[in-house]
Amino acid sequence: MKIDFVCVVCGEETHDAYMLKKEVWEGEGKLGRYQNLHLKCVEEHLGRNLTVDDFTSAPINALLKVGIKIAINMMDDSVREVVDTLRLG
Ligand SMILES: [Zn+2]
Repeated sequence: MKIDFVCVVCGEETHDAYMLKKEVWEGEGKLGRYQNLHLKCVEEHLGRNLTVDDFTSAPINALLKVGIKIAINMMDDSVREVVDTLRLG
């Protein structure tokens, strides 16, 4: 089957590379294996923010997780305390 690189939410071309867990993508999102969405559009589609736990342990997600950790490290201490309670680190 041909992979469609047009985002099903906004209709723009997308090459966002990430893997969400099957229960999130197919279960909660009711999305097909060959459909593509921007990361920000996935959040719009699901009606909630994505968390680290929504992503699989696939290597394609490794850089994303590093990015999140770098972002947390750049926060000031008051924000980091709140984030720590969400177990993102
Ligand atoms: Zn989109």
